[in-house]
Amino acid sequence: MALRKIIVEGHPTLRKKSRPVEKFDDRLATLIDDMKETLVDANGVGLAAPQVAILRRICIVDNGEELLELVNPEIIEQSGEQDGLEGCLSVPDKYGRVKRPNYVKIKAQDRHGVWHEYEGTELVARCFCHEIEHLDGHLYTEKAYHMLTDEEYEALFTDDEEDA
Ligand SMILES: [Zn+2]
Repeated sequence: MALRKIIVEGHPTLRKKSRPVEKFDDRLATLIDDMKETLVDANGVGLAAPQVAILRRICIVDNGEELLELVNPEIIEQSGEQDGLEGCLSVPDKYGRVKRPNYVKIKAQDRHGVWHEYEGTELVARCFCHEIEHLDGHLYTEKAYHMLTDEEYEALFTDDEEDA
């Protein structure tokens, strides 16, 4: 396994649409393992293949229990609403407020091509939406109704330190 470089906002690849995965081979398995390692190293909750400059429909989501490998993922059900802070490994040092469904059900293939369904609420539901949007070339900053100012951002981390 190897760490992949995470590209950041401004890189044109992040704005392109990813193609479906059709070959479930060793190359795919290596990419998925590398993405998992890269996500853990970056302390993130989700990572999509375009963020490591690969335009394929693959993402990894940490649902709190395991790292889900999602190949060709699609949202098949959603309900409710949540309003919260969102960040992205490709938009470093920024956070914005984004409204998302509070419950999301998706279907996705694994590295062998087998279809599974996964459900998530709150952070996991948010993460499913965020990562799948990456596959269509979208960043959460387009959906955020408020991006935190430098002062708000710093206050967030000052609070965190007091809580720790
Ligand atoms: Zn992101």
